[in-house]
Amino acid sequence: MADDERTPRRDATDRPTRSRDIRDAGRTRRRFIWLTGTAAMAGLAGCSGGGGGAAETTTATTTESSDSTGGVPAEYATATSLDGTQRNPDSLSSQEAVSYQDQPSGGRQCSTCRYYIEDKNGDGVGACAIVAGEIAPEGYCVSYVEYEG
Ligand code: SF4
Repeated sequence: MADDERTPRRDATDRPTRSRDIRDAGRTRRRFIWLTGTAAMAGLAGCSGGGGGAAETTTATTTESSDSTGGVPAEYATATSLDGTQRNPDSLSSQEAVSYQDQPSGGRQCSTCRYYIEDKNGDGVGACAIVAGEIAPEGYCVSYVEYEG
């Protein structure tokens, strides 16, 4: 009785299941190939899109200016900040990246920040040891750290 029950059940269900499994495996394999191909194409598009797009993005997030000083007069290029941090023109955040603004925020401003580099040429603006471009003493950004020296 047990053999009689096993044999018909195998015949009735295995064949369709196996062929369905094979079809599903083929579909899954094709979908995998399609997805990996699509992902690769998307990756290539991201790398090559817009010609100089990647270079422009890198420039925007590391230095605001393309000049060798990081967007400031030469005397600020490698100057030190209030706490003695030396500015490196090749390793600066853009003002956009740190949400720089030219006004104080809640009593905090660049002139009291440890990274501020004071005015050196009498024009009323300074620089920053970690942010590109000229920096107003009354400015502010999210990297602010109070100078306690
Ligand atoms: S508040 Fe930001 S931009 Fe201003 S000195 Fe500090 S780190 Fe630099």
